[in-house]
Amino acid sequence: MKISVLYLGRLECKKYHLVECDDHNEMIKSPILSILIEHPVLGNILYDTGNSPYYTTEYPSSTLETYPIAEFISVEEALKEKGLTTADIDMIIMSHLHFDHAGGLKYFAGTKAIKNVFVSEAELKNAFCQVMTGQPGAYVKSLFDLKDIQFKTINEETELAEDIRLFIQNSHTPGVVGMALETKSRGNIIVTSDTIYTKESYLAELPPGGPINKTRKEFYDNLNRVKAMEKEYSAALLFGHDYEQVLEWNKIGFIE
Ligand SMILES: [Zn+2]
Repeated sequence: MKISVLYLGRLECKKYHLVECDDHNEMIKSPILSILIEHPVLGNILYDTGNSPYYTTEYPSSTLETYPIAEFISVEEALKEKGLTTADIDMIIMSHLHFDHAGGLKYFAGTKAIKNVFVSEAELKNAFCQVMTGQPGAYVKSLFDLKDIQFKTINEETELAEDIRLFIQNSHTPGVVGMALETKSRGNIIVTSDTIYTKESYLAELPPGGPINKTRKEFYDNLNRVKAMEKEYSAALLFGHDYEQVLEWNKIGFIE
């Protein structure tokens, strides 16, 4: 198995939206990432797809005001750098369906991957319920309600292969799919996605300050679960939107 962290640009927003802090004017760079897994049995897997190329018109203006997109790199471009096209991807795993994760799904129209999109059932229900009832939030219907898309839902911990396990986190949204990977060169890696945005949030145990999490309890319950997993598997953690970490992992090239 070969894992590459793809850097898909960044948002620049008020830091307190990601990590609680006193200064509500402090800014933070929030990277957009996707993970490419070239797997000997399952083929090419992509975890998350980044922003939509049409974000200026497709996203609500309130979203762009709160989370301005400072740099956009398409998942198509990032795959090209790895010598791949969207047609080479066999499976997509969606951590969740917020705009900065689901925006690149449209690049997979007409490919085999669009028929093989893994998501948690709780997340899919939550996303459709929010957009169909007009509730404000980070879901944009046109990003994931695509012609020909076929979701495969999971409800519990799911072993895709011996070295790839998906687990469901009830924090940030009701069903964020986290991923545990077993690598030869770097041991176990746990991908949290947006349940924990940054290393600082994790180490200082600081939840996001904005309204994105429904309760602080969900953040702490999940944080404790991830801490226990980190210990049990002696794992390295990859967070949802940690700028320095994404650049560092992206620079490595690939992990085997
Ligand atoms: Zn996100």
